[in-house]
Amino acid sequence: MATTISDLVASNHILSSQGVLDNYGHVSARSPARSDRFLLSRSLAPGSVTSEDILEFDLDGTVVGGAAKRVYLERFIHSAIYRARPDVMAIVHSHSPTSITFSISKVPLRAVTHFGAFIGDRAAVFEGDPEGKNPTLLIANNELGTRLAAALGDNQMILIRGHGDVIVGPSVSIATTRALNAAKNAKVLLDGYRLGGEITSLTKDEDNALTKLEASDQEQREWTTLKKSVGGR
Ligand SMILES: [Zn+2]
Repeated sequence: MATTISDLVASNHILSSQGVLDNYGHVSARSPARSDRFLLSRSLAPGSVTSEDILEFDLDGTVVGGAAKRVYLERFIHSAIYRARPDVMAIVHSHSPTSITFSISKVPLRAVTHFGAFIGDRAAVFEGDPEGKNPTLLIANNELGTRLAAALGDNQMILIRGHGDVIVGPSVSIATTRALNAAKNAKVLLDGYRLGGEITSLTKDEDNALTKLEASDQEQREWTTLKKSVGGR
């Protein structure tokens, strides 16, 4: 449990310092002790999160032991995805500018780089204001969270129109590096469109082969370096 909490705190600081998380994004981890619970900070800017701020939630998005502190309005993103996806151990919800750009365009966000393979051939865009009934675009209730989880399906990333993205992974380290790499892949793709000409995406085989490499030593080396950079061990 202590390692998961320290990874979660480090992830908040890394993604905040790299500009992927703004003051309103969040990261969670499934509890290593109970698969029907997850860990998420109280409502706080990610750069300020410490281990004392981490709360435990059940899969309805309710704080275990009662909410003595303010909690994130969009915690239902996490609870619904953990319910729907037993393989998911960590979730990042960001308002990353590059993701928002693709979320408002008909041009698809797709994997064009080795480090962006997990995105696949087209990241879906979730409509957060179905039938004009949710004009804040926030995923602030269980119904919207459940719809978002269904739209994510078996994928690793989904965009939310005019709002941001959700990225999932089998560990805090991989979800974090995926969030960083999603932004890098999007920048390369945007530059490719500016350059002009035909864009070449990764093939399905390349996507699969590269996604398998994520859990390799190289990925761990990246995580260890990132964690040290924010004072973690
Ligand atoms: Zn949000």
